[in-house]
Amino acid sequence: MTTIKANIDLDSDMGSDCDLDVDQDPDPDINLESNIFGSGPYHNIIQSIKLDKSGTHGSGLYAVADIKANTVVWKNRQNGPAELIYKHINIDDTKSFTPNEMMIFIKYGYQISQTEFVSPLTQEEVDMDYSNYWNHSCEPNCLPKDEDTWVAISDIKKGDEVTIDYVTFDNNPWECIDVCECNTISCRKKITNTDYKLKYLQEKYKNHFLPYISKLIATFKSENKENKENQTDSCVKIA
Ligand SMILES: [Zn+2]
Repeated sequence: MTTIKANIDLDSDMGSDCDLDVDQDPDPDINLESNIFGSGPYHNIIQSIKLDKSGTHGSGLYAVADIKANTVVWKNRQNGPAELIYKHINIDDTKSFTPNEMMIFIKYGYQISQTEFVSPLTQEEVDMDYSNYWNHSCEPNCLPKDEDTWVAISDIKKGDEVTIDYVTFDNNPWECIDVCECNTISCRKKITNTDYKLKYLQEKYKNHFLPYISKLIATFKSENKENKENQTDSCVKIA
């Protein structure tokens, strides 16, 4: 789930088989109408979304059919190929990573608490789950409902890139973008690990932050701080 420049075979028909298993989410706010997931590298992604070349990021996820707001677009459905890449990684584990593992972890790791991640560690594992190619936008059309469920927050038209905002789930010093290329009027240009402190983002995304980010926001507010000051962050450059 990061900005990447991937070199993968987009002509592959991997994942074209239909898996008609429909998850039954009891939440009445969730639209299950088109909530049918793919298979193979689309195991966690609904069939209305496919990997394609992205104008700004190399590769990205695109809607191949209209998707209504509130549709579950991604779900961590265990017991399938994707679980092979969902290695739980503690931040201390990264100390023993090889440079290549670290590069992949930084590009594709999905942070679920201040110290825990799930991440592939090889390129082969990356390509087992195309949700790894989900790109950031400062005006995203998908956001998390919880760690295991992401929803469309607006109607998505066929052909649109399906995007997320890293601020809703990332808080590590490596996950920074010096020059965001999302080309939206909301673009905040530099994406940092302390953007959750921005009041307008808290109000914009409301409860669409992962629980641990919501706790960081609550702690920040409890310190009587209103807004992020200057561009304070702890971004670390990994060569
Ligand atoms: Zn941007």
